[in-house]
Amino acid sequence: MTDLPQDRLDAAREFARTFKPGQRLCITTHVNPDGDGLGSEVGLIHLLKAQGINAVVTNPSPTPERYRFLFRDLPGVDRSQEAVKELRKADQILVLDIADVGRLGMLSQTVLERGVPVACVDHHVSQGHLPDGARYVDAEASATGELIYQLAVANNWPLTPLAARALYVAILTDTGAFRFSNTKPAVLRAAAALLEAGLDPEQIYLDVYASAPEGRARLLSETLQTLVVEPEQGLAWVTVPPGALERLGATADDLDGIVEVPRSINGVRMALLFREIASGRVKVSLRSVGTVDVAEFSRPFGGGGHTKASGLSMEGSLAAVQATVLAAAREYLSGTGSR
Ligand code: 5GP
Ligand code: MN
Repeated sequence: MTDLPQDRLDAAREFARTFKPGQRLCITTHVNPDGDGLGSEVGLIHLLKAQGINAVVTNPSPTPERYRFLFRDLPGVDRSQEAVKELRKADQILVLDIADVGRLGMLSQTVLERGVPVACVDHHVSQGHLPDGARYVDAEASATGELIYQLAVANNWPLTPLAARALYVAILTDTGAFRFSNTKPAVLRAAAALLEAGLDPEQIYLDVYASAPEGRARLLSETLQTLVVEPEQGLAWVTVPPGALERLGATADDLDGIVEVPRSINGVRMALLFREIASGRVKVSLRSVGTVDVAEFSRPFGGGGHTKASGLSMEGSLAAVQATVLAAAREYLSGTGSR
């Protein structure tokens, strides 16, 4: 059952025609893949497999421990360790949850140079740059996983329990467990249909959120100690202590959700998390409340994302990047209304 308008149904059916049996298909998503990128990949792979179409996953970063359970039923499919080699053999590349080829990290060059069609399913507001290929894109969608669900419904692909579980993970994680502003009626209807395919939501909660290594809790604790709040501007930020990930045996995935804490403070309109990703390079995660548009704010810095959740990365020391971004944030906030 679907409430998709005719033009979306047509687009979803047209998009599905790009997949052909026998074709070598590589599916990839952004660096430091999240639940939406990985859940969408795994969900689509199960759906395509039932249609006689095989694909492999070639991501620029390893799959975080948190999401490895998704691949347990797909032996040999996660080829991220040989991503470049696999991409060189591909007849078609499909990128998920990405608007910009730069977000493919060390795979960007290979994808740009291959000369094969690069299809894309995505829900980002930022205008992207990708080589030509089929598109199924909607910035109104809550998650890329919701778009994969639409492809299944529009093409009468049966929602097997394993496909449904992966797509549920995608939707669950990108809506902040059904809390963020992208928790729209359509995505809850999709989640309901996925549950009806036979899922155990408590087990999914345990797998995704409650199987953490001790280092994740310690990283949260150390990072929150750095909290700074500027109530006049509605600005709050935290900083990952340099070297903390390595020392605590944690990964970038363990940072997921920490920026929600500065965002949760009453009166805060923009929350940021700073972390050194390499010596001389800093990544910033941004979240907003109300009318503040962090995708727009991030654009002059080469970043992007969604209105209320964006990211950017910049050359410079932690202190220098903080000074630049915070000064711009204060100026941006002084020019926008209250929460
Ligand atoms: P996060 O802060 O969780 O890494 O990312 C939040 C959102 O911002 C995601 O939707 C992601 O696509 C986007 N984003 C994160 N980092 C970058 C970046 O470096 N460049 C761009 N264009 N978008 C980013
Ligand atoms: Mn997403």
